[in-house]
Amino acid sequence: MDDFDFENRIIAPEFSADDADVENSLRPRTLSEYIGQEKAKENLSIYIKAALLRKESLDHVLLYGPPGLGKTTLSGIIAREMGVNLRVTSGPAIEKQGDLVAILTNLNEGDVLFIDEIHRLSRSVEEILYPAMEDFSVDIIIGKGPSARSIRLDLPHFTLVGATTRSGQLTAPLRDRFGVLLRLELYTPEELAKIIKRSAGILGIETDDDGALEIASRSRGTPRIANRLLKRVRDIAQIEYDGVIDEKVARAALERFEIDELGLDEFDRRMLSTIINVYGGGPVGLDTLAAALGEESITIEDVYEPYLMQIGFLSRTTRGRCVTPAAYEHLGLERPEGKNDSLQQKLF
Ligand code: ADP
Repeated sequence: MDDFDFENRIIAPEFSADDADVENSLRPRTLSEYIGQEKAKENLSIYIKAALLRKESLDHVLLYGPPGLGKTTLSGIIAREMGVNLRVTSGPAIEKQGDLVAILTNLNEGDVLFIDEIHRLSRSVEEILYPAMEDFSVDIIIGKGPSARSIRLDLPHFTLVGATTRSGQLTAPLRDRFGVLLRLELYTPEELAKIIKRSAGILGIETDDDGALEIASRSRGTPRIANRLLKRVRDIAQIEYDGVIDEKVARAALERFEIDELGLDEFDRRMLSTIINVYGGGPVGLDTLAAALGEESITIEDVYEPYLMQIGFLSRTTRGRCVTPAAYEHLGLERPEGKNDSLQQKLF
């Protein structure tokens, strides 16, 4: 795996420099522009209407789901629909208690504070959040030594929107302080095709329905990847074709990037074939697999596995990861008789 370029993986769902130029212009601004996630949208819209009716701030919201599904976008929409300001930060960016106190005391009444990767807050910073979320106050220590005293500062009523890849990574006291928990799901190819058509419209790229669907079905259920592939396919469409993205152009471009018709790239294929060839199809423990692939366990779990599980190529069992018969078939590999049969039959 040494030669796999993780940093520049074209279908990585995390934000990359490549997305920076258009990411903001492509973000939907209202709930009605936000495509898919019907359940989350429906719930949010009720809570927002109720809060507006009561002239109160919205309850704290926890958004969880894999990267690139629209958590940051949704926090902006919440602020806009509530008619308040949005302040964006992230768990790793808040190093000291004082950093968070400074952010909190600068908020205005009703504001939305978005903390991305909220599970990465340090324990001492997290403790500042508890009274802030519950009572809208912070305790700060003034002075040093024997003359030090604690004073309580009142904060404006704000809405914390926290985002995390998995709600299970949060400590219980923090999770319990969120009134609204919303899980974002991977998008269907049809929803992604709508997102691609919308983005193409904003960026002035000509694409037909089949072209959009072709890109969509290789975007791993993730809008960020869909938008990135759209831009890359446009380059090829402009240089080698007449600039219009139809099914043929999309397919040729994506094959050039070695992204197959299900959106799998070289890393996915190597991951599946390692489980098959080295571990007899599984079960193999996450850490063992991560070491064999030269990638971190948490990245495999949060970034690669959700999609492979969604398309039914991988299953997580208590004994480890197993490749399914569908994955063998996709890779064109023979499934050995014996060892995993009983386990795999149970999965189907
Ligand atoms: P996250 O915070 O979950 O990593 P973002 O909110 O930054 O994801 O979304 C990544 C990109 O995907 C954004 O540029 C946005 O334009 C696009 N996007 C996400 N969700 C949607 C959606 N439901 N409809 C349209 N575009 C979306």
